[in-house]
Amino acid sequence: MKWIDIVGHVENIKMLRQMESSGRVPHALLLTGPSGIGKFMVGSVLATALLCMSSESRPCGSCQSCVHMSRGTHPDFLTIRPDGTTIKIEQIRALQHEVALAPYVSLKRVCIIDGAELMTTQAANSILKTLEEPIGDIVFILLSANRQLLLTTIISRCMMLVFQPLIPAVLAEALCDRGFLAESSEVAARLSGGRMGKALAMLEPDGLIFRNQAIDIFDGASKASMTTLWDMATQLEKMERKDILQIVSYCTYLLRDLLMIVTGQDRELLFNIDLVDWLNRQAYGWSEKKLLKALKIVETARQALHANANARLTSEALLIKIYDLVKEV
Ligand SMILES: [Zn+2]
Repeated sequence: MKWIDIVGHVENIKMLRQMESSGRVPHALLLTGPSGIGKFMVGSVLATALLCMSSESRPCGSCQSCVHMSRGTHPDFLTIRPDGTTIKIEQIRALQHEVALAPYVSLKRVCIIDGAELMTTQAANSILKTLEEPIGDIVFILLSANRQLLLTTIISRCMMLVFQPLIPAVLAEALCDRGFLAESSEVAARLSGGRMGKALAMLEPDGLIFRNQAIDIFDGASKASMTTLWDMATQLEKMERKDILQIVSYCTYLLRDLLMIVTGQDRELLFNIDLVDWLNRQAYGWSEKKLLKALKIVETARQALHANANARLTSEALLIKIYDLVKEV
């Protein structure tokens, strides 16, 4: 991976490249922004450039260090990720032990801490000492989707760069360039909210499975089939809360698109542009008033799930309310 492989984030990339080429990268950086936005990729390319042994245009892609990076075998590139739900003190201690030794291949080390806000207080305090008094030549790149959860003392030791979602059109074009179909790229770019990682996940063969389940909910309700509805309830019952939340999000996107159609908005603004036929068929059964009610029902379910309400009862209530609403004349 090279700098030119990164889509968007132009200003941040420009700044990082300038700092790297002039040898002025601070020893601790914090890259923040929503998950799936490309922070890890930016961090990896910066790491590759920092470790590259070429005298110009780093990363060169061909030196011993770059080859190690492309194979994922660079001994001087360290990545720390949550072990379970947190980054633990033992992981930070192991890291400190490792960096006390001389680098193996390159002249320095780079360590990415992915999900830095998930460090336990002990781990955070321990890494803070290392940031204050670095051992050896090492650059720390902290990645965080939720910087409010980081200790302010850690933030103050780092140079912070904020990453924003991409404009959907830019992301869609980049996905097309990677060989995805134009329509799928457009849908993934819109539904992902401009997040490359999320869009790529949606383009996996099963990437839109949760959207299909959201479609099933509305199909079941419009067919007024109680059996379909109970089958759906049984399915949801077996799912994890975070997956049910994804289905609920897709319900919101579908309702939002139906609202656009029912109120006669420009079809160009639809999120699910690959579902225009389905949306048009569904739209017959919906009025603006009904759609606003449905959006409220879905939002209530989303909040209940976030507040740790019983997932089974919440999803059953959601299904029954949507069913009743569709039946209403
Ligand atoms: Zn190189």
